[in-house]
Amino acid sequence: MDTPIQYVKGVGPHLAALLRKKDIVTFEDALYFLPRTYENRLNLKPLRDLKPGFRQTAFGTLRSMREVPTHSKRIRILEIIVQDKTGFIFLKWFRYNLKYMQQRFKPGISLVFSGDVKRFRNQLEIAHPDIEIIEEPTESSLHFGRIVPVYSQTEGLYQKTLRKIMHHVVEKSKTVLEDPLPLPLQEKYDLWPLSKCFETLHNPPTEKDFELLLAGTHPARNRLVFDEFFFLELGLAQKKIKTQKEKTQAFGISKILKPKILKTLPFELTQSQLQAILDIESDLQKSTPMYRLLQGDVGSGKTLVSVLGALSVLEAGAQVALMVPTEILAEQHFQNIKTLFKPLGIQTALLKSDLKKSDKTKLVQDIKSGFFQMLVGTHALIEKEIEFQNLGLCIIDEQHRFGVEQRLLLKQKGQNPHLLLMTATPIPRTLALTAYGDLDLSIMLDMPKGRKPVKTKLVQESQRLKLYDFIKKQLELGHQAYVIYPLIEESEKVDLKDATQMAEHLKQVFSNHTVSLLHGKMPGETKQDIMKQFKEGKIHILVSTTVIEVGVDVPNSTLMVVEHAERFGLSQLHQLRGRVGRSDLQSYCFLLMSYPASEEAKIRLKAMETHTSGFKLSEVDLELRGPGEFLGTRQSGLPGFRIANLAKDQLVLLSARKEAFAIIETDPELCAPQNQSLKKGLHNHWQKKMSFLQAG
Ligand code: ADP
Ligand code: MG
Repeated sequence: MDTPIQYVKGVGPHLAALLRKKDIVTFEDALYFLPRTYENRLNLKPLRDLKPGFRQTAFGTLRSMREVPTHSKRIRILEIIVQDKTGFIFLKWFRYNLKYMQQRFKPGISLVFSGDVKRFRNQLEIAHPDIEIIEEPTESSLHFGRIVPVYSQTEGLYQKTLRKIMHHVVEKSKTVLEDPLPLPLQEKYDLWPLSKCFETLHNPPTEKDFELLLAGTHPARNRLVFDEFFFLELGLAQKKIKTQKEKTQAFGISKILKPKILKTLPFELTQSQLQAILDIESDLQKSTPMYRLLQGDVGSGKTLVSVLGALSVLEAGAQVALMVPTEILAEQHFQNIKTLFKPLGIQTALLKSDLKKSDKTKLVQDIKSGFFQMLVGTHALIEKEIEFQNLGLCIIDEQHRFGVEQRLLLKQKGQNPHLLLMTATPIPRTLALTAYGDLDLSIMLDMPKGRKPVKTKLVQESQRLKLYDFIKKQLELGHQAYVIYPLIEESEKVDLKDATQMAEHLKQVFSNHTVSLLHGKMPGETKQDIMKQFKEGKIHILVSTTVIEVGVDVPNSTLMVVEHAERFGLSQLHQLRGRVGRSDLQSYCFLLMSYPASEEAKIRLKAMETHTSGFKLSEVDLELRGPGEFLGTRQSGLPGFRIANLAKDQLVLLSARKEAFAIIETDPELCAPQNQSLKKGLHNHWQKKMSFLQAG
């Protein structure tokens, strides 16, 4: 199946290049290139029996073609009349290349066409149909008299060519394709043999198959979904077993520092926090490194959990590094942690990229000597020159903002240090099992006491003044507000101007209060200064770009206004909203929609109004966008699934995971004779599709 696709008869270098565009290089790639949809050309209806209002496929002979003028002088319509013994139908194009159409569609040729049939002036018509010329409408044709696969095409690569190639590849696969799944497993889950799946998917024999395929519930599809999940989980299981063999330092529970800090906390820890701390402490007591993902909605108090967890390591004299994605966040964490740690005599340092040379040299030395035990920083932490004396624990906040390599680089600063990843992007369970299937999970479901759900409302431009009144009232109560402006890279300058103008405008509207602008292009010191003043309540309205999106914590802010909310993704909106509702004050989030928004944007904004739970929202998001986008494509390190759909195929994922882990537990290296085909299958899948796993 590794044979290059050129070996199919009729595929020359030109066609091979086109196929490569579709990621089809080998026979196997071609097998997995599944039809986009299918057309039932088994029993085509006579034209007379076509019904307006449905998508249908029919067959006929081209009678004539002409261009028709319309009321508007500039617009013409191309019209083809197709007929059979029973009647005729109009096929229409509003955009077309006349020359091409005339060359291709000559009177007398036979056509199969499909599309939404409509009735217009009492005639049947289809606008912009999918259309195919049929040379010989015979029983043996690949393109006629059967259920026909429809592939996604590219320029120059047409259905009929693709169908021929696929036909050839499927025929070949019947004799050479090996099925990697052991029979008992196939039987247990009623899985179809692999080669039968491909046969059916590329050439569905019956109308029943056709219906199941369109519904996305065909057993052939389900089998491929199972495989996709199964081999991923098999890989993850192996990776997990390997990490369990790694050795590292074990740390006892903090007996001195922890009780001291707990005494100074002005609030009680939530059940979730207590549990998560227990999870971490019990991991740290082992001599195999921790690989734990701490997942909790925005505002659930993850920072404190990580800090309390870190105390075991600090008390033993080892170092802890906390890496965060933005300088503002680094600054904030640093200030909080320093305040907590100073009385305990733990030296805390902040590492950013814009340090003065001399400061940095000193800092680098003091990290290396072990003088600084607690390091908070941005990517600056993983720069080459940074060395630790004894790094015991790496904490990565907002971990989805980092790439796999960056996480790895931090970890390599120590000898197999323990690793705690934190994320405020709530990940649906299914996604967690695939993206982080080799990690242990601590999930924090409860929020600190007294938190009220943030009230969220969509606001139209026409209601702006009313919104200002509302903001005024909040400010008069002594609360603070964020006003967020989107900043999209391509149009950074324009948007920045918008944000700046908005700040000026708001200064006038709220002349009794202090309004300040904050954006990523400002020098680090200015940013810090503004954040500090905002934190101290000296700034009342912070007009900002999304630099404050993650992590920022100013509990006295009760208002979040998002301008052009339609431009933000769901997880971003949720993060932004998470900046308020961080105390027992009632908070509000207003989403301004300034332009007519797309349907998808409307769904997003509606979802924000309806749900406050990040978990719910993340499920909506996953449905809307699919996993790659959801986690930030490249960053996620998540394989793209070719067939499986994480939102719909959850149950399959769970069984595949269960089976994969069970097998690896009894035979980690897949040495047993009955597991040889699995070993090969795993190798195959990892090599081609999941090389990311090796990196992290
Ligand atoms: P996130 O999980 O989003 O990182 P933070 O760690 O920033 O949340 O915590 C949000 C706020 O809640 C902080 O001001 C923090 O001091 C506070 N906080 C944390 N735990 C509790 C608790 N148990 N009770 C009350 N407030 C808490
Ligand atoms: Mg946080």
